[in-house]
Amino acid sequence: MAVRVIPLVDQRTAALSAAVPALAAAPTGRLLDQLGRPLRDLRISVTDRCNFRCQYCMPKEVFDKDYKYLPHSALLSFEEITRLARLFLAHGVRKIRLTGGEPLLRKNLEALVAQLAALRTAEGLPADLTLTTNASLLARKARALKDAGLNRLTVSLDALDDSVFRRMNDVDFGVAEVLDGIEAAQAVGFDRIKVNMVVQRGTNDDQILPMARFFRGTGVALRFIEYMDVGATNGWRMDQVLPSAQVRERLESEFSLVPLAPGSRGETASRWGYADGEGTHDPALGEVGFISSVTEAFCGDCNRARLSTEGKLYLCLFASQGWDLRGLLRTGASDAELAAAIAPIWQQRSDQYSQLRSSLPADMAPPGAASGRRIEMSYIGG
Ligand code: SF4
Repeated sequence: MAVRVIPLVDQRTAALSAAVPALAAAPTGRLLDQLGRPLRDLRISVTDRCNFRCQYCMPKEVFDKDYKYLPHSALLSFEEITRLARLFLAHGVRKIRLTGGEPLLRKNLEALVAQLAALRTAEGLPADLTLTTNASLLARKARALKDAGLNRLTVSLDALDDSVFRRMNDVDFGVAEVLDGIEAAQAVGFDRIKVNMVVQRGTNDDQILPMARFFRGTGVALRFIEYMDVGATNGWRMDQVLPSAQVRERLESEFSLVPLAPGSRGETASRWGYADGEGTHDPALGEVGFISSVTEAFCGDCNRARLSTEGKLYLCLFASQGWDLRGLLRTGASDAELAAAIAPIWQQRSDQYSQLRSSLPADMAPPGAASGRRIEMSYIGG
């Protein structure tokens, strides 16, 4: 049986606990890391399970029937997640994204959404609350998520052709149900849905134009993601990456595109709008995005922290170790102590893996990480 190598004991945990000051200054909402990047975006993985077996994320050979997922008692409870989220918001987070695994597999997720929706940022505003899903359960869940206060949705969909999609998810799941989920979400009022397509040369790059044709003018923003070397099990090779510039060339063989301004600092996608006959962006036709994490790294603006399913804080998608916040939660740390523990973790951050990727061996941990293999994406969310 294949074994996932994840350091369950973080060597830094003890130091973290010991470093908590007795009297901590209140959070200011203005934490900066070593590269001057603010903490703005918190991604919370609510489960390490998924019902798909996409090769690039949870390949069947590794995540098989013998695979040992985390026991329920290891998962952060909704109350623990909400408590930590409140402290992260006080430190400057403005956007919270729920991820997995497949987050809709976590029972009663809408109860967590409702708890998070009641929180406020350091500026006194509701957080931008969003969720990434494979949409397999979305048709059933859309209404409850909307009613609970979820603002936005991102759907992962790598192909429109049913046979290509079934082959890629490797569990024979049909594309029609995903499209039904998107339609159901639109019907209950989700109006800024994004669809993320991971493009792999030779696997689904023939789906670029069909996907663009299908979603153009529907209010859904399609985003093309360069296939990345996340985790340690997907057998990534550079020749499987189709650079965003080439994806855009293919789109421009059929559509006229114009560049759009970034929506916010730290946005991962470069945005392009479909143009009308005069070469001006036509909002009714919508837009596409390119997430070029391999060929045009965007670490310089990376403001994302990741909280794993069992409460470890990771500072980069390519990290090999995290900080054990659950240990502090469950040994009775006060809010002030937790906030005081989080602040220096961010302030010491210097991760910029994608920026440095080209100079590293294929499975090496990012600079600054203690040691070990990279954490799987299904464990800390994409
Ligand atoms: S590689 Fe790490 S630091 Fe760079 S953008 Fe990705 S998550 Fe952020």
